[in-house]
Amino acid sequence: MKIFDAHTHLNDDPFAGKIDYYLQRAAALDVKEMAIIGSNAQFNQSALTLAQQYRQLHAVVGWHPEFAAAYNQLAEQELIQQLQLPEVIAIGEIGLDYHWPQNPAAPVQQRVFAQQLDLAQQYRLPVNIHTRDAFADTYAVLQAHYPHFGVIMHSFNGPLEWLEKFLDLGCYISYSGVVSFKNAPEVRLAAQHTPAERLLVETDAPYLTPEPYRGQQNEPAFTHFVAAAVAKCRHESLEQIAALTWKNTHEVYRLNEKD
Ligand SMILES: [Zn+2]
Repeated sequence: MKIFDAHTHLNDDPFAGKIDYYLQRAAALDVKEMAIIGSNAQFNQSALTLAQQYRQLHAVVGWHPEFAAAYNQLAEQELIQQLQLPEVIAIGEIGLDYHWPQNPAAPVQQRVFAQQLDLAQQYRLPVNIHTRDAFADTYAVLQAHYPHFGVIMHSFNGPLEWLEKFLDLGCYISYSGVVSFKNAPEVRLAAQHTPAERLLVETDAPYLTPEPYRGQQNEPAFTHFVAAAVAKCRHESLEQIAALTWKNTHEVYRLNEKD
């Protein structure tokens, strides 16, 4: 069995200096390939460094809405250079986050989100999207700047109404450990209603640890338990979900073309 962690932050501080250890633990639970997600200059660089060192790791680079205020012309130029490297498979994580009051103002976030969607279209790359307390505006910006090389809604946790709307745009839907939380029946309902060919799994490690390890630090290995939770709510086997999401993730990140 092979499982793909479609969104993880192995480039983040908790994993520094222990990459081989976490990759071994992941392999022992069948997690064999990962998309390492950047969010600002520092984490984009650390995602790239990992992808250059390990062939089963791929870099996704971009500017998270939290850091949108720092996305200036120089940052964009650096990003454009990185997009042309063979290790870079997508732009992300980009989007809108209205949850934290200290985040940049909504118009700033929207401009930076739109600019990076346009880059995705120009450089023919998929995008990995973060949205928090911002479904309506995320949908509006995405619709107006829709890039046609693959769109992933990361750690989807919305109601069926929004699921349908993002599916209609053509998005892939990625589920994290939230799908295993007792208090998240809505997310399980969405996972049940996501068409097989649009379904992905991820950890978003070090965040969003799935059951039965909720409360501990998350790590890529635990994609295994995310896939198991998705399998359970869809009444399918873990092997089926692993195979399905492995295929979908390779498709949306266009990894088959690179092999
Ligand atoms: Zn993330």
